[in-house]
Amino acid sequence: MEFTLSTSDDKIKHRLLRRQLRRIFGSEIEPEGYWSTLLQAVSDAYHDADNERQLLENALEVSAMELTETNKKLRLIIDAAPAGIVMLDREMRYLFANRRWLQDHRLNIQDIVGKSHYEASPTMPARWKEALQRCLAGATESCEEDAIVQPDGSVEWVRWEARPWYAADGVAGGVILIAEDITERKRAEEQLRIAAVAFQSRDGMLVTDARGTILQVNQAFTQVTGYSAEEAIGRTAALLHSGRQDVTFYRTMWEAITREGHWEGEIWNRRKDGGIYPEWLSISGIRDAVGRITHYLGTFSSISDPKEAERKILELAFYDSLTSLPNRHLLLDRLQQALAASARSGQFGAVLLLDLDHFKTVNDTRGHAVGDELLIEVACRLSGTLRETDSTARLGGDEFVVLVEGLHTEQAVAATIAETIAEKLRLAIGQPIPLQGGARHITPSIGITLFRGQDKGADTLLKQADIALYQAKDAGRNTIRFYNAAMQAVVDMRVEMEAGLRRALAEGELLLHYQPQVDANGGMIGAEALLRWQPPGQAMVSPAVFIPVAEDSGLIVPIGSWVLDTACHQLAIWAKSPATRNLVLSVNISAGQFRQPDFIDEVKSALQHSGAHPAHLKLELTESLLLEDVEKVIRTMMALRNLGIGFAIDDFGTGYSSLAYLKRLPLDQLKIDQSFVRDIAIDADDRAIVTAIISLAGSLGLEVIAEGVETVAQRDFLAAHGCQAYQGYLYGKPGPADQIDQQIRSGSAPHACLF
Ligand code: C2E
Ligand code: MG
Ligand code: MG
Repeated sequence: MEFTLSTSDDKIKHRLLRRQLRRIFGSEIEPEGYWSTLLQAVSDAYHDADNERQLLENALEVSAMELTETNKKLRLIIDAAPAGIVMLDREMRYLFANRRWLQDHRLNIQDIVGKSHYEASPTMPARWKEALQRCLAGATESCEEDAIVQPDGSVEWVRWEARPWYAADGVAGGVILIAEDITERKRAEEQLRIAAVAFQSRDGMLVTDARGTILQVNQAFTQVTGYSAEEAIGRTAALLHSGRQDVTFYRTMWEAITREGHWEGEIWNRRKDGGIYPEWLSISGIRDAVGRITHYLGTFSSISDPKEAERKILELAFYDSLTSLPNRHLLLDRLQQALAASARSGQFGAVLLLDLDHFKTVNDTRGHAVGDELLIEVACRLSGTLRETDSTARLGGDEFVVLVEGLHTEQAVAATIAETIAEKLRLAIGQPIPLQGGARHITPSIGITLFRGQDKGADTLLKQADIALYQAKDAGRNTIRFYNAAMQAVVDMRVEMEAGLRRALAEGELLLHYQPQVDANGGMIGAEALLRWQPPGQAMVSPAVFIPVAEDSGLIVPIGSWVLDTACHQLAIWAKSPATRNLVLSVNISAGQFRQPDFIDEVKSALQHSGAHPAHLKLELTESLLLEDVEKVIRTMMALRNLGIGFAIDDFGTGYSSLAYLKRLPLDQLKIDQSFVRDIAIDADDRAIVTAIISLAGSLGLEVIAEGVETVAQRDFLAAHGCQAYQGYLYGKPGPADQIDQQIRSGSAPHACLF
């Protein structure tokens, strides 16, 4: 009989048959061939079975397949669980173990098949066995952290839970055990505990995030800085900045941290109470797995013993960092003590205020490093010249103060001693100072005020010394002056004058007068422009009075600029008339004006705006101007010379012109100072000087003009010695421009007064 299965029911039946056969015969039986008859018989038997049962069996089969699928999924999930899971029967034999369990216990599936949990874990502690037994009795056992000592002595940690599982009959079939290896977590916690203990060290510590925001500080941090954790957290470390390190310092520090992950060094920080203190700071960047800095750890310890730190702080507060001399703070303190001592002893003391002449030029021309070198040397010379009991302090810049006590009970004697001390200091500083790039000669101006008792406060004494110093500067520098009440009046007047000058400039109270300059025959060859200030309703103010104020206040720059414009304008007017078109106008230029970086442009613009001819403009410079930074002076002069402008040295003979560089300057004229001319008739020295200047000018190929010529005798002497040009009251006093015009036009040329 042919065995065929044609319907889907038949296919199911066939599968069921094969299973029955397998059950009966214990192995797979092929339904075809020999067995086909038997199969057919069985098949028939099934055929006879009730349809309902068959359908039920079909459904069961499908459910079984579905169940297998679900089982597979569950198995996957259980295998992937981060904890080890085992199912044990009542005898603690393994029914199931997930992959994690096998991994954690370093077991293969073969190692546990048919074995009991006790056999697989021979070192299992008794308490666990007891717990498993309690589970069989229905308890659920667990432990959050359990240490397992490994055979090699190391400790591993687990978190476990054991609970019974129940068979269909409701009896506990065994135990399900879930165990999680928490060794790594325990190690990390341990590290954290160690770090936490270390964090509470005696050194101040702070942790910031990558942006520098403080996340954590320790107790020592609070003790040192005064900021509690609550006050510091959330702020940045800039909270501690003392301002003693500049931007470059911090930039270099952060560059090192970013580059090397670490920086350490000395730093000054500020406490909450404002006090600053030195510390040794170490900063480390903490990186994440990909190497990005996520946090910074800062540790700071005091630099040395607290006494040393305190000494440093005191030094900073009371001593000048450049020269190590006491600063203003300490000086005032000592001055107070000196006043009290003087009140007790009845002896005079003195405050000497020193300022270096033209120190700014050293800084400008030789650089600040050389300037500093010079200040240090001056400080040494001051200290070296004085007695141990005298105090020297640096107020800042190039200003020094010397405090001498116990001079004398007589004011006049005390003043003499103070003057002697000042003179010694002046000479000591005046010696050439060896510096990088060559020795330098510098002189001081010194203001002195005396004190006895406590009538005047320390501040008042310093102000008085300052006024005396001002006078010393005014008297030509490298000079000593004492304070007296009259000086105060002068100072007050200066302040008033400065305000007045500003107004004068703004409101057109300035004007130029012109004084004729004549040749050997008395013919007018030019004039000198001389500045005048005419305040409304008041007497005209002499430039000898207000020019020094303008120079000190810097007003000389705008004033000088106005003079140049006005003088050039006058030249342009003269150029229009044949009588005056050849006149050369001399204009006085102050050092401060000449050194302006845009001086050349200023002169050019004055010429351009007025249309004046450069060859008719002569600039009068003083010898002191020529002394500073000769090379730069020559460059400026050459640039102007190339435009056609001439140069004269004013007041020649009163300064310290060196022949060596006089030769190098593009000069046209030397102007003999009127102080030599004045006494020509009576002073043999002046005669000698004048003759020397005339012959010097001759040998240098320069013209020579004498100023302040008032008498015929003076003129004759000068003429006899070769002077070719003159200026002075003999030829005309300075006056408005139209006075020159009149003199020239009326034919009453200045020389007319001569003959
Ligand atoms: P200085 O350049 O040496 O000018 C000569 C001074 O001598 C002028 O004084 C002039 O009036 C005066 N003088 C001329 N002839 C005689 C004379 O025969 N006898 C006497 N006793 N004096 C005579 P002034 O006008 O008072 O000027 C004083 C100083 O003020 C000038 O000395 C100059 O250094 C300065 N000065 C004047 N105008 C200016 C200016 O526009 N700019 C600058 N920077 N300084 C100026
Ligand atoms: Mg002059
Ligand atoms: Mg002069």
